[in-house]
Amino acid sequence: MAFHVRGVLLPEDEERDLWLVGDRVTFSPVEGAETIADRGYVLPGLVDAHCHIGIAPGGGPVEGIAQAKELAATDRDSGVLAIRDCGSPYPYPQLDDDPDVPRLARAGQHVAPPKRYLRDIGVEVGAPDVPGEIAAQARAGNGWVKLVGDWIDRSVGDLAPAWDAATLEAAVRAAQAAGARITAHTFSEEAVAVLVRAGIDCLEHGTGLSIDLIGEMARRGTALVPTMINIATFGDIAARAEGKFPEYARHMRALGDGFPAVVRAAYEAGVPLFVGTDAGGGISHGVIADEMLCLHEEAGLAPLDVLRAASWGAREWLGFPGLVEGGLADLVVYAEDPRRDLRVVRAPQRMVLRGRVIR
Ligand SMILES: [Zn+2]
Repeated sequence: MAFHVRGVLLPEDEERDLWLVGDRVTFSPVEGAETIADRGYVLPGLVDAHCHIGIAPGGGPVEGIAQAKELAATDRDSGVLAIRDCGSPYPYPQLDDDPDVPRLARAGQHVAPPKRYLRDIGVEVGAPDVPGEIAAQARAGNGWVKLVGDWIDRSVGDLAPAWDAATLEAAVRAAQAAGARITAHTFSEEAVAVLVRAGIDCLEHGTGLSIDLIGEMARRGTALVPTMINIATFGDIAARAEGKFPEYARHMRALGDGFPAVVRAAYEAGVPLFVGTDAGGGISHGVIADEMLCLHEEAGLAPLDVLRAASWGAREWLGFPGLVEGGLADLVVYAEDPRRDLRVVRAPQRMVLRGRVIR
C-alpha cells in the first residue's frame, strides 16, 4: 500500500507532493497511491526527547509490556512518532520494531547513587562500580546511557553530586568507550560543571547551568533537553520538602525561578535544544504541545526553532531521517501554519507512523 501526501513541507517551506511506500519516503510519483492529505503543513514526526514509557503513572516500574505500549500510544496520539527513552526500570527491547510504537532511542536503566534516587527506578551503584555499570547499561539500551548526576543528599539537606568528580568523568569515558552517547539528570550547579567539561553528550534539565558553562556547551555542541514543564513543578517539590529540608527547598525554588533565563541564554548562545516532556511518574504522557509552547512563551524560542527542536532537528540528532528521499515514513500534518501560531501543534490532522496511517 502506498500513500500520497501534498502540502507545504517544513522546514523547506515548499508546497510539494511526496509518496510513502512501506516505511520509506519518495518524491517519485507512485501510481495508484491513495491520497491521504492534499493541503496543510507537513512535518517529520515529532520527537519527545525525554520520556519514560517504562515508569508507571505515579512512579515505579510499569507492570509489564502492555502498560509501556499503552503509555507510548498516548504519546503517539499527540504527534510524537519517536521517543528518546531517558531511562527505564523495565526493559522492553522488543518494542524497538513494534509497528504501533513510536521509534525508540533508548537508554538502559538510570545509573544512580545508592539510596538517594527515586525508589525502584535506578540501578544503584557506589563509585567504584559506576564505569562497569555504565558499560552494562550501554549494552541494555540502543545508543544512550542515562546517569543521575545529582539529587538530594538527605544527610546534607541539599542537592549534591551523585558521586565525586573523578567518578562522573569516568562515567562519561565509560559510555563513550562502549559506543553509546551519555546524558545526565542535573538540577544543581556542581555536577553539571564536571560533566560538561568531561564532554558529556547531553544534559537533562540543566537548571544549575551558568553562563560560562552555556558557552562551553555551545562550543562543544553539547545538547540540552530542558523539560520546562517538569521544572515548573519545583515550587510544589519545595513546598513538600520545606519542613524537613529548608535549604533544599530554597535551592529548588531559586533554580526553578531562574530557569527560563537559563534556557533563553542557551538558545541565544546556540546550544542544541530539544523538546522533552519527562513524561512518566509525575508528568502525564501526551503533553509535548505544552512543552513546545512553554519553550516559546517562557524561554523566547521562535516557533520555527521550537519546531526544529521537536521535529527535524531532533530526528537528525537521534538518527531517524525525516522527509527526504529514502527517509522514514513518519509525518504529521497540521491544517494551519504552526510557524504563525504554534498552538496549531495541539491538533494534528493526519499522522503516519512507520508507513501506516494512524489518524
Ligand atoms: Zn526523566
